Amino acid sequence: MSRKETKGGIKQLSPIDVYMLLPKTNCKECGEDNCMAFATKVVNREISIDQCSPLLTKENEKNYNKLKEMLKPAVKEVTIGVGDSAVNVGGKLVMYRHEFTYTNPTAIAIDVSDEMSDDEVLAKVKKTQDFTYLYIGNNLNLQMIAIRSTSNDTEKFKRTVKKVAENTKLPIILCSLDSAVLESGLMAIPKARPLIHAATQDNWKEMAELALMYNCPLVVSAPNDISLLRTLVKTLNAYGVEDLILDPGTFTSSGLGDTINNFTMIRRAACIMGDELLGYPIMGTPIVAWTESTNSQTVNAWKEAYVASMLVTRYADLLVMHGTEGWALLPLTVLRQNIYTDPRKPVAVEAGLRTIGTPDENSPVLMTSNFALTYYTVAQDIESSGTNAYLLVVDSEGTAIDSGVAGRKLTAETVSDAIKESNLDKKVKHRKLIIPGKAARISGEIEELSNWQVLVGTRDSSGIPKFLQDNWK
Ligand code: SF4
Repeated sequence: MSRKETKGGIKQLSPIDVYMLLPKTNCKECGEDNCMAFATKVVNREISIDQCSPLLTKENEKNYNKLKEMLKPAVKEVTIGVGDSAVNVGGKLVMYRHEFTYTNPTAIAIDVSDEMSDDEVLAKVKKTQDFTYLYIGNNLNLQMIAIRSTSNDTEKFKRTVKKVAENTKLPIILCSLDSAVLESGLMAIPKARPLIHAATQDNWKEMAELALMYNCPLVVSAPNDISLLRTLVKTLNAYGVEDLILDPGTFTSSGLGDTINNFTMIRRAACIMGDELLGYPIMGTPIVAWTESTNSQTVNAWKEAYVASMLVTRYADLLVMHGTEGWALLPLTVLRQNIYTDPRKPVAVEAGLRTIGTPDENSPVLMTSNFALTYYTVAQDIESSGTNAYLLVVDSEGTAIDSGVAGRKLTAETVSDAIKESNLDKKVKHRKLIIPGKAARISGEIEELSNWQVLVGTRDSSGIPKFLQDNWK
């Protein structure tokens, strides 16, 4: 059965569709109370059907296969690389983020070429793999190295690929339209499962042979021609190549409209129209911004960054970029993080008592909510004050202070309970709690319930250092 056989688009799965194919014995082997509860979790992608062990038996094989097919994502998931550092791209279930959480954040690859010196290559590889930024408890990183053959020389390419592979575990993309050059690169890393770029209408057969021989995913390239892209996919599928990534071309300046349109049409065809031939991850190449004739590296980096940002919001599963400037990559990776965060769940940290520095019995106790963004901002502002302190993180169900107070998620009761549970009375001699200015309206109630004196702090956490300086002697 195809996942797309409905007329008006892809059929929405309901728990009952899944339930009908389960063993329906309510045996609880999966850890759920009954088969319907399991089916509901399967539809929400919270659990895999493989956790129903009775379903894995020979007699249920047919139903298992039917379920696998039903649950197949609209966009195929493709793995690049091997082992712990392998990266999955695609695997999208839906077109719009509000319908369901996006899986597999857009992977970002930084390029090197076989005409760069060894030192230049190694410096860029190091910069790529060392790029990291802690944002709301998540490390933002770059995922891959793209090695371009600009020399078209097989030996040079092979040498560069070997050098890169010896110095990084990041998955690799090999880029050349010449199959002989690409094969020389593959011979340097025959078991690394790099992504190879790219099969075109002129070289598809040679590239298909390489993809099959080395068990590699393959990029299909048809700039600004979705119809040709589709034909090439059909041909490659018939040849036996299944792990494909689509490159419809990336154009900057006047071609930007076409680029966005092509990306959107491809994803729409896969997720709404059920076109399996376009149900593959999409690759964007903002790196093309550097081929335009501007003499300013800054302008090139800026163009590359805005094209990349647009493509992250418009269905790109993989981007190849050239610049490594933090001012360009940091906003891009933050944007990616925001788009790939589950919109159904507030971004929360665990509630409880945190220590900042080495607090003692005279140290101040501050309070905040467990909304991740608030927590990390407050913790950083206390740290920057240089004061050793306790930070009481109250469970507000992941809401910020003002909305938590307004929505009764952050109440005098929850604060008072948090004080008791954290045993603060045994850690400090005083009984003073500094609460955010935005929670001022519950200060009286907190005092009544907890018997702690409440000091109302600043509305914005950036004022914490000065507040502590002025009020905590
Ligand atoms: Fe139902 Fe399978 Fe879970 Fe048993 S293990 S309760 S059969 S879903």
